[in-house]
Amino acid sequence: MEEVGGRVILKWTTGVEGGLMDSVGEVSFSVSEKETRALVCEFLALFYNKGWIAGTGGGICARLGELPEERNLFLMAPTGVHKERVLPPDLFVVDQQNGAIVRPPQNKQLRLSECHSIFLELIHQRGAGAVLHSHALSAVMVSDLAQQGDPLVVSHLEMIKGLRGGTNQDRHLIPVIGNMPHEPELLAGLRQVLDQPQYEKSYCILVRDHGAYIWGKDIWETKQHAEVYHFLFEAIFMRHER
Ligand SMILES: [Zn+2]
Repeated sequence: MEEVGGRVILKWTTGVEGGLMDSVGEVSFSVSEKETRALVCEFLALFYNKGWIAGTGGGICARLGELPEERNLFLMAPTGVHKERVLPPDLFVVDQQNGAIVRPPQNKQLRLSECHSIFLELIHQRGAGAVLHSHALSAVMVSDLAQQGDPLVVSHLEMIKGLRGGTNQDRHLIPVIGNMPHEPELLAGLRQVLDQPQYEKSYCILVRDHGAYIWGKDIWETKQHAEVYHFLFEAIFMRHER
């Protein structure tokens, strides 16, 4: 990797560093885009090790950078691949205003995350700067504790403070929506809960039998919220079981 005129030139060849690329290529990014690409891949590996995106499931998106020309663009992971092996050049660049792929990866076999319409909805409606789609076992198990149509209620846990604006006195609500055969079909249920004022302080939507969507104002807050919510899922489930 080398820097030329404020841009980073990234080169790769088949099989190097165990990535997904099966081609030889070269692409240049702005420095902030380079950092975001690296962070997205680092977090994919981290979240895989936590069991949140195993079995090629789950996904992530993050704003490209903070430069004016970057704020409308989001990096999105490819679908159906081993997420822990995704490398910076494997990410798609998507315009959040119209959902168009601005720059696909050079590996034409990669397909855009099936979650991308849901990511766009959370970017538009909640101002998300990054979104994690988790397939964690704890998210699946804890969803069963909410009655049909009811949210999961979180209280008496110090970790609620880790959510933006949260206190340990809160009665924090996490909406739960029903699962659908295909990821984009979750959109209707998602919109229904996003419209409800009682969920305006929620940064997570649980999908029954499936997982969760968790977001924050940027990639770092999204990581923090993801860690807090997964802790809350486990704490609630273990308290219920004891
Ligand atoms: Zn999913």
